[in-house]
Amino acid sequence: MRTTAKARNNEDRQPPLLREILLSFWKIHILHHAGEEPVYGQWMIAELRRHGYEISPGTLYPILRRMEQQGWLAPAPKKKGDPARRKQFRLTPQGKAALRTICRQLEELYREVSPAPRPAAPAARKRFY
Ligand SMILES: [Zn+2]
Repeated sequence: MRTTAKARNNEDRQPPLLREILLSFWKIHILHHAGEEPVYGQWMIAELRRHGYEISPGTLYPILRRMEQQGWLAPAPKKKGDPARRKQFRLTPQGKAALRTICRQLEELYREVSPAPRPAAPAARKRFY
């Protein structure tokens, strides 16, 4: 899928602070999907667009490279019929461990920052009665 000028503009219009935070979201999406099946750049761009994120190849490919350097992603073996230049990535055991840690931390963070009222944990509730 081709990235349109409009998509690039949307990405460029994001305030720098928001973009800085979204970078982490995108990496978590990549870890998740690479754990399900090998992913490649254009597929990931389309998938992130489905989630409402407009990200250009110029942003995504360096992220994939950095994630590979971190040891979270590794090249996946090519399947018959795959274009020769398409580099596919799979999740490594290190990437899987990173994703597990992030999921725990995300859950904790969400409980903390979510504006929706949450029922108190049973142990905490007891103290008020
Ligand atoms: Zn997704």
